[in-house]
Amino acid sequence: EKTSVALLGLGAMGAALARAWLAAGHPVTVWNRTPARAAALAAEGARVADSAAEAVAAHTLVVACLLDDASVDEVLTGADLAGRDLVNLTTSTPAQARARAEWARERGAHYLDGGIMAVPPMIGVPEAGGYVFYSGSRELFERHRETLAVPAGTTYVGTDAGFAALHDVALLSAMYGMFAGVTHAFALIRREDIDPASLAPLLADWLVAMAPGIHQTADQLRHGDYTKGVVSRLAMQVAGTPTFLSTAQQQGVSPELLSPYFALMRRRLAEAGGEEGLTGLVDLLVH
Ligand code: NDP
Repeated sequence: EKTSVALLGLGAMGAALARAWLAAGHPVTVWNRTPARAAALAAEGARVADSAAEAVAAHTLVVACLLDDASVDEVLTGADLAGRDLVNLTTSTPAQARARAEWARERGAHYLDGGIMAVPPMIGVPEAGGYVFYSGSRELFERHRETLAVPAGTTYVGTDAGFAALHDVALLSAMYGMFAGVTHAFALIRREDIDPASLAPLLADWLVAMAPGIHQTADQLRHGDYTKGVVSRLAMQVAGTPTFLSTAQQQGVSPELLSPYFALMRRRLAEAGGEEGLTGLVDLLVH
């Protein structure tokens, strides 16, 4: 007997989750503010509840995948959560997740927060490599581990309900930094007779080749020695920054994405000397 799921929210992500559970044979009761979105899922075997409270009353495992924390509040106010296993896959901040965990506890529910590291087409497609960060109640996570693993992989990151959101935002923040670099790189060749498609594989391979440096950064942060194993000294890297800025200027490209990072490099060099690599910049950001 497969665990039944009450699913609140049938946006792009909620609908993908519903389909994955239905395809795996889990009974699913869905509810969506705009009822039309539930009709398609009813045709695929979902039961449709008339209200969120009715869906919550129907099953122990309740999954919310709504727009934001405010919509979670709106949808679940009035539902009886006592004894429920509430899994909130709505993107939120760590503080919102912690407050939501406390809110759920006051209502007698177990709480697990999730941060989805996938886009809807990756849901229900294990080879796509998508997964969900989970944090909060370990008991809830263990109890529903198999069910939670149906739409995407599961990575439990701790009992602090805010940690899933924190991991989610940390990874996406790094992604935006990477995108910023890629944006600048394409801008540099934009007015030249260079096919962006010929730069693309070189860029992608270079970023992959540089990625293992992340492990050295972590190792240095753990041990507090930011000079350990450094191959590219900060002094050398700062000395190289005019080359980047001049090249940008010569290509008619704004340095606005690179400049803030270079400014941090110069500050760290002034404060800590040139023998470190880039790890010290982490501490410059933390107030
Ligand atoms: P959509 O915009 O497609 O859907 C939003 C859902 O929230 C709809 O079901 C909508 O209902 C509902 N909703 C919004 N406001 C309210 C409200 N006040 N009361 C009740 N219901 C409300 O978003 P997604 O499905 O794409 O995203 C859902 C969550 O998943 C978000 O937190 C998002 O950050 C997260 N996520 C999404 C990813 C993606 O690529 N799509 C990737 C990773 C995470 P209605 O149909 O009535 O408008």
